[in-house]
Amino acid sequence: MKKLVIANWKMNGDLNKINADLGYYANLPDTNGSNVILALPYIYIVWAKQRLLVNSQIKLAAQDLSHYRNCGAYTGKINGEMLKDAGVEYVIIGHSERRSLIGENGPILIHKVRNAFDSNLTPIFCVGEPLSARSDGSYLQFIELQLSGLEDIQNFKDIIIAYEPCWSIGTGKLPTLAEIQEVTNFINQYMQKRFGYVKISVLYGGSVTGQNARDILSLNGLGGVLVGGSSLKVDDFVAICSKA
Ligand code: PEP
Repeated sequence: MKKLVIANWKMNGDLNKINADLGYYANLPDTNGSNVILALPYIYIVWAKQRLLVNSQIKLAAQDLSHYRNCGAYTGKINGEMLKDAGVEYVIIGHSERRSLIGENGPILIHKVRNAFDSNLTPIFCVGEPLSARSDGSYLQFIELQLSGLEDIQNFKDIIIAYEPCWSIGTGKLPTLAEIQEVTNFINQYMQKRFGYVKISVLYGGSVTGQNARDILSLNGLGGVLVGGSSLKVDDFVAICSKA
């Protein structure tokens, strides 16, 4: 089975780029795109779904959702039902940029995961250690703590966990394959023990490129990759997808 390739465009792109890139992906002859998920900025999602990906199996993710569940007076927020309505199937939760730049903490992230489940969206829950925890050897405890909040959720459903070491995101610094394997095995075991009754995929993210994707994607038990910078370069992204 093909492995997942998720593109996180972050706050990048404009209508010209969306039209050009998605038009190209939707018409690629050698892939049906069923393992490809694009996390676009909110405002381009409906356009992408209704105009560019009509005959494509490529799926859409949002980069975040509100921790408020119901509609109401929450200026600027987008909830899970709105995402579902727009054709979104997945949602990134707890990306390290939101944790560090916006200060999103454990309980808010757990509300978001719960809301995603309630709206039948599959969460892409991001975990990963800062450089300090890698250096002092406490990285597995750090990640275990990030995962532990999930245990408070009752209505658990299928989930994707993305292991993204903070020090690798956007830096070009790649952990060794053995380091990726160690942590993704740890996450897989942790999740299987507690939530083995749902479908769990564990991905790697951080400085994935067309050059290193083959080795990473061949790791045992790895469900795929989450790609930031390289997902904005059409050739690089197609090269990654071709290795999945
Ligand atoms: C990310 O932001 O999720 C990411 C993996 O970024 P990059 O591929 O640029 O390291």
